[in-house]
Amino acid sequence: MKTLYDLMLAAAKHLTGIDVELQFSEKKSLRAAGCVRVNPAGRVVIDLASDYAPAASEDDLRVFLHEVAHAKLHAKGFGRSDTDRAPIWDKPKSKQQAGRRLLMESQADTLAHAWNNWAAKRAPEPWQNGRSVFENRLTALLRY
Ligand SMILES: [Zn+2]
Repeated sequence: MKTLYDLMLAAAKHLTGIDVELQFSEKKSLRAAGCVRVNPAGRVVIDLASDYAPAASEDDLRVFLHEVAHAKLHAKGFGRSDTDRAPIWDKPKSKQQAGRRLLMESQADTLAHAWNNWAAKRAPEPWQNGRSVFENRLTALLRY
């Protein structure tokens, strides 16, 4: 049987169309539930906080889809990082940079919402098959 990790990775690859990697990193360095970067080999990596444990909730799904959306929409513009670890979060260095980040956040939210809504219309409910919202909707998104 497939693990939840396998399902998340398959959905992330399908939704982004990119051969992404999925890693769990120290929350201390991320300062958020997740982040997206390009590793030294040039592969897009979605880092999720090590205490991020997708269980059941729609919120968990939104967090994950938000990061997947960043990978799809924004990773092309990222330079390669020089380490394999998640970057330390840094404050925006200018108003323009802060504005760009806000824009990227809202773009990722919009796409994550669209995916979630699409899946909500097609996935079975937990009471129908005993699986979580997270698992059911992510499975549905493999056909997006
Ligand atoms: Zn974000």
